Amino acid sequence: MATQEETFKKIVSHCKEYGFVFPSSEIYDGLGAVYDYGQQGVELKNNIKRYWWDAMTLLHENIVGIDAAIFMHPTTWKASGHVDAFNDPLIDNKDSKKRYRADVLIEEQLAKIEEKIQKEVEKARKRFGDSFDEQMFRQTNPRVQEHQKHFDALHERFAKAMNDNDLEQLRQIILDEEIVCPISGTRNWTEVRQFNLMFATEMGSTADGAMKVYLRPETAQGIFVNFLNVQKTGRMKVPFGIAQIGKAFRNEIVARQFVFRMREFEQMEMQFFVRPGEELRWFEHWKQFRLNWHKALGLGDDKYRFHDHEKLAHYANAATDIEFLMPFGFKEVEGIHSRTNFDLSQHAKYSGKKIEYFDPELNESYTPYVIETSIGVDRMFLSVMCSAYKEEQLEGGDSRVVLSLPPVLAPTKVCVMPLVKKDGLPEKAREVMDMLKFDFRTAYDEKDSIGKRYRRQDAIGTPFCVTIDHDTLTDNCVTVRYRDTMAQDRVPVEELHSLIEKAVDPKQLYRRLAQSLQ
Ligand code: ATP
Repeated sequence: MATQEETFKKIVSHCKEYGFVFPSSEIYDGLGAVYDYGQQGVELKNNIKRYWWDAMTLLHENIVGIDAAIFMHPTTWKASGHVDAFNDPLIDNKDSKKRYRADVLIEEQLAKIEEKIQKEVEKARKRFGDSFDEQMFRQTNPRVQEHQKHFDALHERFAKAMNDNDLEQLRQIILDEEIVCPISGTRNWTEVRQFNLMFATEMGSTADGAMKVYLRPETAQGIFVNFLNVQKTGRMKVPFGIAQIGKAFRNEIVARQFVFRMREFEQMEMQFFVRPGEELRWFEHWKQFRLNWHKALGLGDDKYRFHDHEKLAHYANAATDIEFLMPFGFKEVEGIHSRTNFDLSQHAKYSGKKIEYFDPELNESYTPYVIETSIGVDRMFLSVMCSAYKEEQLEGGDSRVVLSLPPVLAPTKVCVMPLVKKDGLPEKAREVMDMLKFDFRTAYDEKDSIGKRYRRQDAIGTPFCVTIDHDTLTDNCVTVRYRDTMAQDRVPVEELHSLIEKAVDPKQLYRRLAQSLQ
């Protein structure tokens, strides 16, 4: 059995080998934590974005989309707090010269303690079998209790240091916990310093006096500064939402784990504006809806969990992450935040404009409160890839790699193949392809044996292969081969369209989600 780390490495190389993700500017040895999506990857990514966009804007009459520019007036970032506070605490190891996020080093230490507890629990579960009472074991086993005490104390100390922005204390925790650099193995650490994550550049020629502008670190601010524009021109009534998909940039200190942490990435964000005092009810609503959205894809309900924030940003009054079980543990894919009226109030203050909403039902004006749902396209892409990648042993000693992608997201929906390259079969196959290609992304393949062609489609996650053989010319039936089961059916050509549509049409997911809203 491959370890999780080996599996992850295989997924990364599979992504490259089959045209999903390439390192950026690879011929120049790449650029740290920047990636390009290839011919398969872009389709999968577009399908993810479409699923999100439609779930927001089709399913909700009161959510509209925008596409704001990446560059924004620099005061935006002063108002939002990013210039002063969008920092990560960094620490260097003097021997390896490697840089780390101090908070991440401590979080990893916490995860290690949790792992030790889990190991004890699993060992005992094996020993006691059916009669095992996990809760009782956790409460009474001395070793588990000792680990738990350690965990709780460390956790409390860490949360306090983060809340107080106490950099010295963070360093002291790293020393006290005897955390070593994974590269040098030493504890020769520098001080902890704050590091601003925004990329800056200059706009305008220097003769005119260039202005320092930032590449946006989140798409949300483009929504806030357009609140009045959209509300007025769209005659939107609170509660309503504005959705946006776009690039964001962060100069991440430690960029690891492939597309999980990139310096240029894409976000899908929706800001939902509500009456003051109603935000926590809407927060619960959006938590549930977003989890339903994830689960509807069928990647496995047990792969998700909520992680409530203990440390709230100064403007938030509730926050949670939706975490997904990646090969490297449960990791944040989406954040749901109750941001109060902080952003709109700040922009009102810095711009001198009144940013309020007149509520005709209450007959009063107020600054709406905001619930934000913010998901990274690339992290979503990674969670889909990680859950889809499978290596299977087949009968007869053969094996295959298959991407069991949700058919709705699969880059190619169907591949049409003539059994042989002669006898009029390619012409018939082209005819079938022409029938399908404007409704479903359809590929054509006539090279190599049928077995090899099936494997190629398995590896990119194509749910259906359609083979044209000599009988097709007389009975107008084709062989449909299903990716996951490898079962084959003989199907009349005129039934192909509805068979494929049933599996790949996102409308079925929208209907299910719409029901969950009632
Ligand atoms: P983390 O704690 O992992 O750095 P975050 O809490 O800073 O993430 P948010 O600011 O809440 O992230 O951003 C919302 C979403 O944007 C995240 O849930 C994630 O999916 C995505 N995201 C954030 N930073 C990155 C990144 N460097 N690379 C890829 N996706 C990212």
